[in-house]
This record gives sequence, structure tokens and C-alpha cells, in this order.
Amino acid sequence: MSEEKCRVYLDGREIGTVADGKEFAAEIRSNRRKGLISGEINVAYIKSINEVHINADKGRVRKPYIIVEDGQSKLTPDIMEKLKAGEIDFNFLVRRGIIEYLDAEEEENILAAMDPSEITKKTTHLEADPASFFGLTVNNSVFPEFNSMGRHPIAWNFMKQAQGLYTTNFNSRYDARAFLLYYPQVPIVNSVTYRTLNMKRHANGQNFVVALSTYYGYNMQDAVVLNKAAVDRGLGRSVFYRSYMDEERRYPGGQQDSFKLPPPTIEGYKGEHAYSKLGEDGIVEPELEVNEGEVIIGKVSPPRFLEEQTSFGVGEERSRDNSVTLRSGETGAVDSVMFSETTGATRIIKVRIRSIKVPEVGDKFASRQSQKGVTALIVPQEDMPYTKEGIVPDLLLNPIGLPNRMTYGHILEMLGAKAASLDGKTVDGTPFSRHGKEVIDDYAGTLEKYGFEKFGDEVFYDGRTGKKFSATLFNGVVYYHRLWHMVSLKLQVRSRGPVQILTRQPTEGKPRKGGLKFGEMERDALVGHGASLLIKERMLDQSDKAPVWICKTCGDIGYYDYIKNTPVCPTCGGNKLEEVEISYAFKLLLDELKSMHILARLRLKSD
Ligand SMILES: [Zn+2]
Repeated sequence: MSEEKCRVYLDGREIGTVADGKEFAAEIRSNRRKGLISGEINVAYIKSINEVHINADKGRVRKPYIIVEDGQSKLTPDIMEKLKAGEIDFNFLVRRGIIEYLDAEEEENILAAMDPSEITKKTTHLEADPASFFGLTVNNSVFPEFNSMGRHPIAWNFMKQAQGLYTTNFNSRYDARAFLLYYPQVPIVNSVTYRTLNMKRHANGQNFVVALSTYYGYNMQDAVVLNKAAVDRGLGRSVFYRSYMDEERRYPGGQQDSFKLPPPTIEGYKGEHAYSKLGEDGIVEPELEVNEGEVIIGKVSPPRFLEEQTSFGVGEERSRDNSVTLRSGETGAVDSVMFSETTGATRIIKVRIRSIKVPEVGDKFASRQSQKGVTALIVPQEDMPYTKEGIVPDLLLNPIGLPNRMTYGHILEMLGAKAASLDGKTVDGTPFSRHGKEVIDDYAGTLEKYGFEKFGDEVFYDGRTGKKFSATLFNGVVYYHRLWHMVSLKLQVRSRGPVQILTRQPTEGKPRKGGLKFGEMERDALVGHGASLLIKERMLDQSDKAPVWICKTCGDIGYYDYIKNTPVCPTCGGNKLEEVEISYAFKLLLDELKSMHILARLRLKSD
């Protein structure tokens, strides 16, 4: 048997075979470095399936690496000198085959060294900088190399959810939702990437004074305790914008919506109070306080069907109220109103509502070290722990959250920012820039210089009793983000409310005033407890309970004839029916089975 040939794929399509895939890939690579073929081509030989994958399509994420040949980095010291002197640039290095861009598939074929000192005979590439090991988001953080790898995706998710100064022209924008921090700060500890991207122009957090301590059981697990005085001074305070948009739509037949104060005779009139904030033009006046359910854009639409049939014959043409109301559970002031026209010459109106969000119990905060926390208590300053200098932390973090998550970067940041605060300058926390011992010695030295305990511990006094704590507390400064998950935007209750038309079960979700889902797993928990009546109450009485008449003769569903005052079975014509409570979803199932010519007969236990 002849040896199997190696298949070659270009952008996922098979284009032929070669005898030796590894050699073929090496040849392409060599030609690319010589500039004989485009530098945008990537090739990978996949040994396990004996295939060569060539990629030249758009949309691949690629990363630059320094090429290493025969154990020697091609970025030699004299080339570095020329680069520093500005005689050559980065593109020159790419053209000369000193640096090349690799995609995810080709990266599988290489052995990259993090540092020139780690280069061996087998090394093929060298990282341009050890920090390029991380992406942009993690590089915006500090000391990520001291954290557990699994925490990084969590950390960058928090960073993406942070409130801050996302843009400077927020006053002329109508974003659907936007958060703006009142007093954004530049982090005391930041990184090269942070400075290079000029992220201080878009600061999205504040430097909190943090002490690692419990507080009478209020900050269990991930919960945090905030200092009320700090909150009153503007800690984490932000403004929330929500924009509403509506347009005067045109309909076939020449009819059109119109923005105006809806007259009381209109179909679907919401009552006088709902329109009280509108001006003469039917649009809400700027700087008015508005509440949920109040109309902010008055709009009248033509009737859905021309000459609707009513019980009095052919009815008159009634236009309907199609106004925009403030979302349920939200309040705020009208920040601005904008009139405009679409390209189709229909008028549009945008209204931006502003509301101030002061941190409250239930609001979420997170540091750049993937340490999130929900505010559990806001304590008056006099009840918080304090040091002999009278320093009161802004936030108390439970130390139990640190050892199991292995976010050592959090501790380093606390120490670094504390030292930097005393020095009155910012410090650098770029990934892989310094060794841990070097970092700690540096910060410890600074702290000692200013008369502090070198590892950041301090004696604290209990604000409630005035007594000294028997243990010292580790404290420092951490850059905290206020995340956009806020109770005021999520709080919701329902006792009674709308139901779905098809299943008659309660609706789902906050905008539809829905109920909390009671799913399979919740039901299983109650089954496990044997709480049968509670299951019935949740899944039948409080859901889609429907009384139906069931025929004792044929087992089909009948109805009650109120004229003859007797139940009737339309299937067999009998009158022996029993009223039974079933779930409406079950009746729906029976109906759907009937549509497939399956008649399910119900046998009653009383028979
Ligand atoms: Zn029957």
C-alpha cells in the first residue's frame, strides 16, 4: 500500500495533494519570508490528520512574532538600534522577514519563547513583548500575570460592563442606553497599554480605599460594604440616559401618524393624567420629571382597519392612541428633545431621559482583578473601621474571596496604589514588566519611608465600639468599576398581570410585567421535598388554570350551554359532563393532537 498523500486546503476548500505536507508548509513559509508571496498568507501543517491548511481570506485575527532561526532571534541588537534611532520602522521588519504575522492555525506549528533568554534550538519564534501574550482588554488591567488564568475572561467581562466616560459628546447623542460616571478617575496603577491607548480620556472607574475585613456578617462571600459618607461625596455616582424614538409613519391609502396631544375621544385613551406632561405639540417639555406610564411622545395613528364592523353596523372611523410612554419602573427628568426628519421625509422625535443613580444596596462593583461584589450595606462613616490617622475605607472586602480565586494581582494593586498615593504619583503595573519580589520590595520600601507597615497592614479601630481590633487589617487603594447591573433597573414585582394569548401562562420578562420563571429544576426541587400542594399552586392555580367540561361518555371536551342551562358534548351529543380544572397548556396539547387526527379520551376517576 502506498503512503497516504497529504491533502492541501486553501481557505477551507481542497485544492490538491502533496507528498510531504510539512516540507510543503515550510516552503510556503520560506517564500513568504523572502517576500516571494504575500505576507498575508498563513499556512499550517496539521500532523494528526496529515493536512495542510492555507489561509488567505479576510477576517482572521493575526499577531506579530519575531522570527527565530537556528536559536538566534532575527531582531538583532544593531537592528534594534536602527529602530530606536528611527532609521527603520515596523513595516521594514515585516518586509525583511524579521517579524511575521501568524493566525490562530499557524500558531499551532510554532514554539514561541516569552523572553530571549528562553530561546533553545527548537524555538521558532519570540514574543514581541511578553505582554502581547494577553489581549488588549487584559493589558489594560494591572498585574494580570499574578492572577489565575481562568479569572481573566471574567475580569475583561467586568471591564466591558464598567460605567465611565464612554464618549465626550454624550450631550448630543441619543444612545438607547448610556451610563456616565460623575467623577471618573485615572487609575493610580496603570499599564503601558492603558497609557498608549490614552484610556485616561475614557476613565471608567474610581480609586477606592479598600480594607480587607468582614463587617458584622454583612459582607459575606462577594458582598461589599460601602461607606455612606463616601457615597454622599460622589463615590460611584452615575447618570443613566435612556432615549425614546418615534416617527410619523405613512400607511398605504394616504393615511399617516401625527404627533399631537391625543383627544379624549380617541381609541385607547389613557386618561387625562397620563398626558399631563405634554406640551401643546404633544411632546414632553424638557427638564420635567416624568414617571412610569406617563406619555412622553403623544401620537395619533389611523385605525388599523378601515370602517371597522361594530355591533351597531358599520362603525365610524376612529383613530387610535399610539403614544410612547415611559418604561415601567423608571423615572427621570427629560434631558433633551430632538426633532428631525428621515430620508423618507417623515418626522421623527427623540427624547432622552436622564436619571441619577446613586449607589444603593444591590448595586454591583468590580475591580480590574475579577473581584466583583454586590453592595450589601451602606454604613455611616462613624460606624466604619478607622485607623489612628482617621482614614476610613470606602469599601470593605471580605478577605475570603481572595485565596480560592488566587487573584494575587488584587493585593499587589492595593499595595502599589497605597505606596503611590503616599508618593503622590502613579505607578506601573504592565504585565510581565517586573518580577513579583522586585515589585513588593519597591512598594514596601515606599510604605516604610512614610512610616507605614511595609506590607500594607494597619491597626484599625471598630467605629461602633471604639475598641481596637485584635488583628491588623490589610488595606490599600484599588481601582473599582461600577458595573451597569443596578437594582433600580432590575427591580420588579408581579402579583397579577398579563398572560400569553396562546398558552394563558403569565408573560416573561420585565418589560412585559412578567412573572419569575418556575422551571423544571425548580419543580424538581419541590418534588424532592414532597411539597405537592405547593407545586399545584405554582404550576396550576397561579399559572394557567382552566375549568373545562369533560364528557363522561366519550371522554372528549365539551362546553356549558347557558341558554339550555346544561353541559353539552358536541362529539357524542351527551349531557353527562363533569367540570374539571386542568392546565390550559394541556388543553392546547389535546387540540394540537386533534390537528394530527389523534383523539385523546379523558377518563375521570369518579367513573
Ligand atoms: Zn361525549
